[in-house]
Amino acid sequence: MNIVIAGGGIAGPALGVALAKAGLGSTILEARPEGAAGGAFLNLAPNGINALAAIGLGDVVERAGGVPLTGIRFRNAAGREVGHLDGRDEVARFGARNHLVRRDRLHQVLEDAARAAGVEVRRGAEVASIEDHGDGVRVGLADGTTVDADVLLGADGVHSAVRRLAFPDAPRPAYTGILNAGAWTPIDLPDTPEQQLVFGRRAFFGYVVHRGVAYWFSNVARRDDPTAGDRSAVDPSTWLPHIRELHAEDPEPVPAILAAATDVAGVWPVYDVAGLPTWRRGRIGLLGDAAHATSPNAGQGASLALEDAVVLAACLRDVPDPAAALRAFESLRKDRAEKIVELSRRLGRSKVPSRLGAWFRDRTLPFFLRAGAAETVEKYGYRVDFDAPVAGAPVAAGGAGR
Ligand SMILES: Cc1cc2nc3c(=O)[nH]c(=O)nc-3n(C[C@H](O)[C@H](O)[C@H](O)COP(=O)(O)OP(=O)(O)OC[C@H]3O[C@@H](n4cnc5c(N)ncnc54)[C@H](O)[C@@H]3O)c2cc1C
Repeated sequence: MNIVIAGGGIAGPALGVALAKAGLGSTILEARPEGAAGGAFLNLAPNGINALAAIGLGDVVERAGGVPLTGIRFRNAAGREVGHLDGRDEVARFGARNHLVRRDRLHQVLEDAARAAGVEVRRGAEVASIEDHGDGVRVGLADGTTVDADVLLGADGVHSAVRRLAFPDAPRPAYTGILNAGAWTPIDLPDTPEQQLVFGRRAFFGYVVHRGVAYWFSNVARRDDPTAGDRSAVDPSTWLPHIRELHAEDPEPVPAILAAATDVAGVWPVYDVAGLPTWRRGRIGLLGDAAHATSPNAGQGASLALEDAVVLAACLRDVPDPAAALRAFESLRKDRAEKIVELSRRLGRSKVPSRLGAWFRDRTLPFFLRAGAAETVEKYGYRVDFDAPVAGAPVAAGGAGR
């Protein structure tokens, strides 16, 4: 079976490795040219790290220089602690702990692992058109060349070309009202083993200090998507002064980190995608953000993408007909992924500041954190089992993922 994966971000290379473990070859078409990396850093959760371990990639986080995190501390704009999530027991409870990982390093380690597993990774290969012949798919690239596939899997992210081309009626990505900017900045501050989150006066700020580097992000509420269709319209170089001003009255070390920063790695309008009616059409399927893009508030998008990769490879291994394999995959994954998209959307609302909202949040956050314990177990405690056989489609929950 000639399997073509559009997108070599997070889901794509993990899927390539998992398929190779299943004895299936694949080709990844990645739009970014050789040497181009994207993004700042992200949180990989225990469920994502366990998904990597299920396909023999348990050392990826370490190889990518991941920073272990032992919890989250929340402070308000006056600097008062308003909530705490203790994550010290995550390894005992979930088999792994949350890590902060630089995105460029994660991409590189995953891509290297895919190439080492025999996956062909083509950089500068941007999917621009799709022709589905029923017994195969012809993929047209932006450079005018074509690639033929028995199965085409769209792992090409929130603005997926595969989704747009093969599922023209699918909902479009919706702007969540938040712009995310971030970077890593050398600074002389003690390590913070926990993630620090600050509900600032005018914007939300998060940081971790590790070995003299502050990994920070700022979430700025903005009603209209400034890029309005042109995603290159946000110029990071003009944003640092603006972010400094927004956080000027927030508690230290927020202003100190921003004073030390010399640039911003990027400014990203945050989108998510409402539940798609389906993730498959014949021999074309979607996974990761292409199927269920989530805002970053729950810190789960990358981990869900990794879970998808493992479960989809198991389905293609065990269900002989590709269309039936994609149906099995969707039945195993859709409910879980869409529930987390919704959870993340809900969490995002508390980041948009208002005086009354802040008063209420400071008093109720500890209660919500306690009440959210069950959600934490649902997120982090989920285990994909690559070795368990997938039954024929449709598959009852409990097969490749549980
Ligand atoms: C600001 C921000 C912060 C985030 N923080 C977190 C976090 O802390 N934790 C977390 O779990 N998630 C986080 N997320 C979400 C996370 O980034 C995604 O859920 C995750 O990257 C999804 O992986 P993916 O492989 O599906 O898509 P991506 O990682 O987006 O990969 C898609 C790949 O497809 C390529 N591509 C796109 N179009 C084409 C095309 N036409 N042809 C070929 N290739 C193409 C892209 O270049 C890219 O390499 C964050 C998202 C944002 C925007």
